[in-house]
Amino acid sequence: MTQTEVRFRTLRPWLLKTFGRPVHRIALDAGSSCPNRDGTLGRGGCTYCDVEGSGTGALKNGLELEEQVEKGLKRVARRGPGFGVIAYFQSYSNTYVSPERLREVLGVVEPYLGNPLVCVAVATRPDTLEDWALEELARINRRVPVWVEMGLESADDRVLLDLNRLHTVADFETAAARARAAGLGVVGHAILGLPGDGRVGARRTAEVLARSGCLGVKVHHLMILKRTALARMWAAGRVETLDPTTYVTWLADFVETLHPDQILHRLTGDSPAEKLLAPQWGIHKNEIRERLNDELQRRGTRQGCLGAFSGQTR
Ligand code: SF4
Repeated sequence: MTQTEVRFRTLRPWLLKTFGRPVHRIALDAGSSCPNRDGTLGRGGCTYCDVEGSGTGALKNGLELEEQVEKGLKRVARRGPGFGVIAYFQSYSNTYVSPERLREVLGVVEPYLGNPLVCVAVATRPDTLEDWALEELARINRRVPVWVEMGLESADDRVLLDLNRLHTVADFETAAARARAAGLGVVGHAILGLPGDGRVGARRTAEVLARSGCLGVKVHHLMILKRTALARMWAAGRVETLDPTTYVTWLADFVETLHPDQILHRLTGDSPAEKLLAPQWGIHKNEIRERLNDELQRRGTRQGCLGAFSGQTR
């Protein structure tokens, strides 16, 4: 795809332009929990989520946060000098903790802010973002950009209910607006191919992500992971997954509907092979990226071509 015009905005070139150097991510597990697992909202979690909370599981493996940070920074440093790093608190809902704990967790990365950490990303849920958490993140944001990563997944409340997400589309929109008002970047997550969402769901989800002013978007196809509620439904023949051609078609719809400024952080899932039950595509993520570009080229369209949203992203 080197000589072909790329018809959507991807993360790597944007990071290079924004931070003036190549930037890599280190994924961190701060040992947080999730109200959708501990009984506060629900038990068992979202139907697609495995017991590690869509995360690294590093803390469960005995790696303290400080150790994870040092190990991650060393791994990036081996690539050579001059790299920037994003500290990504990935597992579970990282603002579903006490104010003291959030301050303690952020304190582990504070010594590295500016160099080599150029950004901090914090995964959470739309309903676990209290004002004090926003203030704490805004404090870090005065030094390096902070992104709040939140799952929308689908823009249909019925689909969210079936997924056992236990928040609504409106919850996501409100949380995104509050995070943006606090000066934070929002990265919204979406899944295409969720039961009951269909092709129309792809466009609908992109519309909400665009309207919510998300700076970044992560999208992937529905994956069935071992030890999930969805795995049991899939084994009983009650859930189907997408083939790559269908996914790329729906992904093209999704990308056309986004805001033209939004940055696509991810275009496909990359679950560890030992966890993945379906689909077994055997396709590298770069091929999905190339097929998406080919599809947009074939249609004569590009990201944001529907032009429905003219607001700023941040
Ligand atoms: S909110 Fe996140 S961590 Fe919690 S169950 Fe759902 S996907 Fe898993």
